[in-house]
Amino acid sequence: MPLSPRPHHLFGPDGVDDYVSAMRVSVDHLAATVRHVDGPATGTSPEQASKLVADVDLDRPVGDLGEALAEMSRVYLDDAVWFHEPAYAAHLNPPVVLPALAAEVFVSAVNSSMDTFDQSVGGTFVERHLVDWTCARIGFGPEADGVFTSGGSASNLQALHLARDAALAGPARGQLHRLRVLASADAHFSVQKSARLLGLGAEAVLPVPIDDDRRLDPTALERMLAGLGEVGLVPMAVVATAGTTDFGAIDPLPAIAGLCAAYGTWMHVDAAYGGGLLVSPRLRHRLDGIERADSVTVDHHKTWFQPVSSSALLVRDRSLLVHTAWHADYLNPAGDERPHQVDKSLQTTRRFDALKLWLTLRTLGPDLIGTHVETVVDLATRSHRHLVAHPDLEPALAPHLSTLVFRFRPPSMTEDDADALVPQIRQTLYDRGQALVAATRADGRDWLKLTLLNPAATDADVTGVLDLVGAVGRELLVAESRWSA
Ligand SMILES: *Cc1c(COP(=O)(O)O)cnc(C)c1O
Repeated sequence: MPLSPRPHHLFGPDGVDDYVSAMRVSVDHLAATVRHVDGPATGTSPEQASKLVADVDLDRPVGDLGEALAEMSRVYLDDAVWFHEPAYAAHLNPPVVLPALAAEVFVSAVNSSMDTFDQSVGGTFVERHLVDWTCARIGFGPEADGVFTSGGSASNLQALHLARDAALAGPARGQLHRLRVLASADAHFSVQKSARLLGLGAEAVLPVPIDDDRRLDPTALERMLAGLGEVGLVPMAVVATAGTTDFGAIDPLPAIAGLCAAYGTWMHVDAAYGGGLLVSPRLRHRLDGIERADSVTVDHHKTWFQPVSSSALLVRDRSLLVHTAWHADYLNPAGDERPHQVDKSLQTTRRFDALKLWLTLRTLGPDLIGTHVETVVDLATRSHRHLVAHPDLEPALAPHLSTLVFRFRPPSMTEDDADALVPQIRQTLYDRGQALVAATRADGRDWLKLTLLNPAATDADVTGVLDLVGAVGRELLVAESRWSA
């Protein structure tokens, strides 16, 4: 018997009934799961999680979507980490807005690819309209442009790639080894990684000192810019961070812009975290000066409440994107007048992630997104007061955006003992599935970190997590003194 010439497992008119039932079954499965979620994690260990997956024989399909979903629950969903849970406060993962999930239906089924006009048609212009709108929010002029990327790391890489090629064509006269990148020590690690990928080496990124509030110190930056010139080195770019990953600090953008202009240096603003302030009615002013950047990273899958992945790189002047362009005869030949987004992108085949932001803005509007950002910033400010008042918890710094960096350290405890407890407290909270918190190092010390990105979380939710840290810290102290006794 020949196979049916029109298989029903492919998306299209013949498969549409099966498509609808596959989607219904999947949505119902997820809904039934999420209704019963009662914590951010189950505390499964890597050993347990890997065993569940390893036991699946990929050569023997279960043959039925319902069965496969049940199996998927066992290997993945049942122990998933849920970012919508108020006790999830680890990394920069927000709960996602529903219009973006509706958009995912179209993004994956229609499966447009954003590289060329003939693979996306209206999608090209949806993305361009969003880019233009974002550039206007930044305060760029009519020459601005940009492109969606897979994340902040990719956006930063592309920005530094453009800056590198601009510097090589200009002041560095083709000499890669003369290039340096200046960024505060709190800038994201993707800056070093990009420098390595771009052939400069991670050592080409020079750390600019920060002030007591952990913002880049412009006086130190000026000294470094002047010093580089004296020894024949070229400051290829200054990376200003608008919302550092750990502390949420926003570097002084106007002062940095002035110095970049004076020294003829590319200014990149990494607003992967702080980018959501662009749509905040009340806090937008904190990004003043961003309009003087050459390039800006925003990450929609952080403070715009979008599903992974969605980010954009925006540039002040569209001609700066020329360094990304490459013309292939089969795709986007030189002289082709049609609009091809691949000319601006490091990727070729690329998801239509822009549609998620589009449906979000068209359904909920930008103010709601901005208000959500304000909500989590305010939540962090109030929670910080609880932290200050807590006898056993020590804050590192008042929050700039929506992170709280702190540790368990009762009055008599040494710094070393406090360091040692940080990973233990974090692990205990995960093991019990009670709360997910992050950890980091600053000034040579270990700290816990809460990243608040859930606008539905209440003060009681956050103070609950802080109190839990205090209680677990006490518990571990008692356990340890028994141990040593
Ligand atoms: C998260 C983050 C990045 C990296 O973004 P991804 O989307 O995770 O690649 C870059 N810069 C800053 C400041 C960030 O917080």
